[in-house]
Amino acid sequence: MTTRSEREKAQKLNEQHQAILTKLLREEDNKYCADCEAKGPRWASWNLGVFMCIRCAGIHRNLGVHISRVKSVNLDQWTPEQIQSMVDMGNTRARQLYEAHLPESFRRPQTDQYPPSLFSYWLFTDPIMKSHGWVSTASFLIILFLTI
Ligand SMILES: [Zn+2]
Repeated sequence: MTTRSEREKAQKLNEQHQAILTKLLREEDNKYCADCEAKGPRWASWNLGVFMCIRCAGIHRNLGVHISRVKSVNLDQWTPEQIQSMVDMGNTRARQLYEAHLPESFRRPQTDQYPPSLFSYWLFTDPIMKSHGWVSTASFLIILFLTI
């Protein structure tokens, strides 16, 4: 059983976290989904530290929690550790990290489009990717990152 003061404390913490997330979402790169660049992301992968749209959040969820831990920006409760991860990373830094070695020919896949790059062959021969039919840039890069 929780006491009233504990509940108030939790609520206050939640409000602080919401304020931090709102502020982060005002940063230029965070205004767009890290994967497909859809406008106004309301979801996040807190272990990867990226903001994303609901569609890409669904894909991340399907990848499993060992790869991506998805949370709603405003519907879920956040822990201080999860908030810190978002503050430390964010879409700008995540791109610098995960997309540092993209070949020049790589084109970011748009929603519902197949990646028109050499990667697509690899993507569609991979069982996880096959089950989704398509994949977003960051998801793919994370998998690549984890498998090499
Ligand atoms: Zn997206």
